[in-house]
Amino acid sequence: MSELVLTATVERELVALARAAAPREMVAVLGGDGAAVHTVLPLPNTVGADDAFQVDPIAFARAERRLRRAGARFVGFAHSHPRGSALPSARDRRELWPGCLQVIVGLGGTAPTVRAFRLERNPEVQPS
Ligand SMILES: [Zn+2]
Repeated sequence: MSELVLTATVERELVALARAAAPREMVAVLGGDGAAVHTVLPLPNTVGADDAFQVDPIAFARAERRLRRAGARFVGFAHSHPRGSALPSARDRRELWPGCLQVIVGLGGTAPTVRAFRLERNPEVQPS
């Protein structure tokens, strides 16, 4: 699978959203075409804790429809670590959808960092 490009504009937008959501985690849906991410749609984080996020399925379905109407397609999720790095946490490794683009904004360092990755499908957690 080819890697999608995150433009500087999208990165700035994600950092701004992450800062606005802090101390809670920001979550957003990413839309794009085959080559680049060009749309960021923030979603409400339905988890009350500061170190987790969860998306309401109806809000996700609405965002996905908005992307399609704008001529984009769903390519992945972004979320933030308000006090951590842009690396996936143990919880992320367990819970994030494998195979789709995952962007993490880390606000814990001296400067924000933005990283994109895909989790491999783990045979241990596949339903039998
Ligand atoms: Zn995370």
